[in-house]
Amino acid sequence: MVYLNGNFIEKDQAYVSVMDRGFLFGDGIYEVFPAYNRKIIGLDSHLNRLQDGLDAISIKNPHSKDEWKNLINKIISFDSINENQAVYLQISRGSDKNRKHTYGELKPTVFIQSSVIKLREKSTLLNGLSAITREDIRWLKSDTKATSILANTLYAQEAKNNDAEETILYRDGIVTEASSSNVFMVKDKCLFTHPKGPNILPGVTRKKTIECAKASNLKVVESRFTKQQLMEADEVWVTSSTREILPITSIDGIEISNGCAGPIWSLVYDQYQLLK
Ligand code: PMP
Repeated sequence: MVYLNGNFIEKDQAYVSVMDRGFLFGDGIYEVFPAYNRKIIGLDSHLNRLQDGLDAISIKNPHSKDEWKNLINKIISFDSINENQAVYLQISRGSDKNRKHTYGELKPTVFIQSSVIKLREKSTLLNGLSAITREDIRWLKSDTKATSILANTLYAQEAKNNDAEETILYRDGIVTEASSSNVFMVKDKCLFTHPKGPNILPGVTRKKTIECAKASNLKVVESRFTKQQLMEADEVWVTSSTREILPITSIDGIEISNGCAGPIWSLVYDQYQLLK
């Protein structure tokens, strides 16, 4: 079952108009909520980011926080098995009579669905994962979780074509984030990640990872670092709601962390698991 504009219906019965600006222009905002045994981690943080995104592109939020919470909980409850789920929520500006770049007051289109997420065991993650790097050529509103993420999908496909977990992005030599995750590096027991701003999505997992690291008495610095520093890091991680904290042990075919997940990753990963 999915939710579309006020109704819970079967996915194959859910249709939107070809005049929907989400379809024509990618004119919308989305959010992904991770649910573990039907409990969402960071629900308010995700709803706050949703509000920020809607404000950034001037779409009036069609629901209150409590209404969103009810809809999301209902979608989660449809899954009969207690598996981990990713709830996808999208609000597009709505459909107009004709295709034109500008818009007036439209009724937003709201779509919510849930899918099962399969997380890898820690024993598997200890072997580490690989990444490739690419120049970040995205627009300078990457802090807005807009549905128009063609560049990100192309970067993700490039990673897949290279049997890699992620494409790590850099702009003017500075590591920003990855195609669908934030990037952390560890150097001399200190954790570094790009500061919040227009170049990165303010990941909820990024925020939780910082909190978990601080709870483990680690120093965290939100400052810019270069691709060169990344390659020379003791550990590299990527974080996202549906993949949690992943250790990267090979970048562009070059070994990081001696090819194994590092001890600091293990510490923070364990701390993160306590949130569930
Ligand atoms: N950056 C980008 C570009 C992303 O698409 C995502 C995943 N939505 C993230 C970072 C991580 O965000 P979160 O931890 O909130 O899932």
